Amino acid sequence: MATPLGEKLTAFIAANGPISIADYMSHCLADPELGYYATRDPLGAAGDFITAPEISQMFGELIGAWLVHAWRAAGAPAPAILAEAGPGRGTLMADILRAANADPAFIGAISVHLVETSPALRDKQQATLAGVKSPVAWHERIEDVPDGPLFFIANEFFDALPIRQYIRTGSEWRERVVGLDDAGTLAFGLGPSSLRPSRLDRPDVGVPEGAIFEICPAAEAIIDIIASRIAAFGGAALIVDYGYGKTAFGDTLQAVKNHDFADPLAEPGEADLTAHVDFAALARCTRQAGAAAHGPMDQGAFLLAAGLLDRAGRLGAGKDTATQRAISEAVERLARPEAMGTLFKVLAITPPGLALPPFDGAD
Ligand code: SAH
Repeated sequence: MATPLGEKLTAFIAANGPISIADYMSHCLADPELGYYATRDPLGAAGDFITAPEISQMFGELIGAWLVHAWRAAGAPAPAILAEAGPGRGTLMADILRAANADPAFIGAISVHLVETSPALRDKQQATLAGVKSPVAWHERIEDVPDGPLFFIANEFFDALPIRQYIRTGSEWRERVVGLDDAGTLAFGLGPSSLRPSRLDRPDVGVPEGAIFEICPAAEAIIDIIASRIAAFGGAALIVDYGYGKTAFGDTLQAVKNHDFADPLAEPGEADLTAHVDFAALARCTRQAGAAAHGPMDQGAFLLAAGLLDRAGRLGAGKDTATQRAISEAVERLARPEAMGTLFKVLAITPPGLALPPFDGAD
């Protein structure tokens, strides 16, 4: 099925030649008229996928408690910035702020900054956060968030950032591109450029022909900004996403539609397109920017150490059996290894020398 964006991209490639995977991803997700996020709210049971904050309020409440603790550990700076990238429906931020209400000094010190490119989701966030006591502002880019002590959260944001892919071809790593096959249909191919050897920070002897290596320059640029600010002004960040703790070879580009995997080239603009997050690369960028990286911890271990079971017990106390069952099902989904518990990981960023539980010392 050709989508309107598919036709637009096919015409562009026919005229100009193949495009990188990164350009393909950004057109599919962010084309102002036909992009996936620009045009819809993809979240929830009726959408294409569901995220941790949409599963249970406990996720955001535990993160809120962690961020307030981080603010206290930083000496309770005022004013301070509470920022989120890719806030979806605004559910996570609403849950963070509800938990943070327990500390009125925190609520009085912060202004809330949301980095969101999708007009459709901005509208949802505005509605969700209508009653919030602290000032709330929206930004297109992380660079536009004002300077100051930064308390930052992103859940399932980094997986939406465009990756570049390289394929092992002889002794080189050639860029993988999206072009057209003989029938004029979108197809993967090999581009003219190859990976700078210094980008491949690992031995590649014995790596089989056709192996794929991914980099995410956009993620690196964003981590550089967050980590530099935390090093300069203080603060803390939590990055939550699915991905791998050690950089590895492999193709993780994936499309999801109606809660199922789809062909990434089949329906441009109509399916979500993501890649697994390389947490080792994010940790490396954090350290290069002068801040400390902690973890990544598995999401299940992080939430349990942050008090998930205790929170679930309190939330369910005195409620009917159906509500209690729903709460324990949410605990299972968020924390069990077969569900989101180990695929999802949590990386923390702090100023050098500071360790915040449940993370061990900086690595
Ligand atoms: N964090 C939310 C939503 C995850 S979906 C949750 O956990 O439910 C990804 C979010 O990132 C959406 O809000 C999407 O519009 C936003 N997004 C994707 N690419 C972006 C970019 N380059 N800049 C800012 N926001 C982006």
